[in-house]
Amino acid sequence: MRIAVVGAGQLARMLALEGWAMGFQFSFLATHDESSVCVDGLGSVIRYQAGTSAAEVYLKLGSPVVITVEKEDVDIDLLKALQQFCPVYPDPSIIHVCQHRGRERDFLNKIGVPCAVYQKVSNVDELSAAIDLIGLPAILKSCVAGYDGLNQWHFEKRADVIKFINTTDLSFQCILERKVSFTREFSIILVRDINGNHLRYPLTQNRHCKGVLLTSKAPVQDFDTRLNSQVDDIIKRFIHAWNYVGILAIECFETDSGVLVNELAPRVHNSGHWTQLGANTSQFQNHLRAITGMVLGATEAWGHAGMINLLGCTAPSAVLCQSNSQVHLYNKNPRPGRKLGHVNLVHYDDRQLTEQMYQILGDVYGDKNDSKRPEIPLQILDKVILSDLKPE
Ligand code: AMP
Repeated sequence: MRIAVVGAGQLARMLALEGWAMGFQFSFLATHDESSVCVDGLGSVIRYQAGTSAAEVYLKLGSPVVITVEKEDVDIDLLKALQQFCPVYPDPSIIHVCQHRGRERDFLNKIGVPCAVYQKVSNVDELSAAIDLIGLPAILKSCVAGYDGLNQWHFEKRADVIKFINTTDLSFQCILERKVSFTREFSIILVRDINGNHLRYPLTQNRHCKGVLLTSKAPVQDFDTRLNSQVDDIIKRFIHAWNYVGILAIECFETDSGVLVNELAPRVHNSGHWTQLGANTSQFQNHLRAITGMVLGATEAWGHAGMINLLGCTAPSAVLCQSNSQVHLYNKNPRPGRKLGHVNLVHYDDRQLTEQMYQILGDVYGDKNDSKRPEIPLQILDKVILSDLKPE
């Protein structure tokens, strides 16, 4: 049985690595300029050219039994046309919502899921009016092509807005969003099968550095019952609104006034990588089970799990390969900030896990004398990790 994945990055790689062990074969649909090094040797890569019919694409993909995606930036019309030949999960109409921040926010509002106050803007006048309404600090986010903090502008004061207006031609769709004073960031990783059964993984606490995920830990600690019931309510609303199939990641802020949803990912997600080592069934396995009609695997965590992203650099195996860790490298060439791999860790003790993560982060990123490494200044690491350590 062949599964086709739209996209050829690290998520496609990890889906295929998991799927090969389950007896599946893979093909990948990439754009003409998309790097496919991550999936080298894991299946055929088809380069899509505008104008190619869906029938031809389907045949070139090797007549898969199901098609899935590893990213939101996909050709929705093509995916809808491919539905004549086999199921496409998640449904393209859902991906269409998630690939545009404006549509996503409107959808969250429609189903009653709380998110930061926002306004849609696509020119300077609308931006000024939105700032009058929302106030500062605020963040302007492009509606498309804006992941990992890309195409986002942070305005702390009026002068930042004026500088932005003077240097950028604002003629594209954006949302202006109030800056949220959150206590923590976490994600809900959910999986739903074709029969409507769904399971959630333990909540994952995330730390970002310059808009990019740096670490995850699960299960999130000290999460009070009020927040938990808000999470349950958010999940119910998604399950009710969508006939979703596969993994859905919901990125959230924990604030003093409750949970706010920041972003949706209709696919396996970086904040779910810890499940490869730390949960009964990984997010990759469960996504494949869901889209091929199998029973879902249990989502409980073994103990405390952590994940560290390798951004722009890796480290010697003595640092990364420890008795309780697992390393994943994506076969990419190093480039500043590029996600090259990640390390998963498990521990029975949360505090010891945190200390071990801090040590590894320091070894990977912290050598100030090595000009290739200081991607992330040590002060930031201190803030990231020390704030996780609870007082004695
Ligand atoms: P995003 O691309 O929306 O996932 O944003 C990347 C990161 O920027 C988030 O994980 C947060 O750390 C930060 N961020 C995004 N939106 C906001 C917001 N409204 N208020 C505060 N921080 C934010």
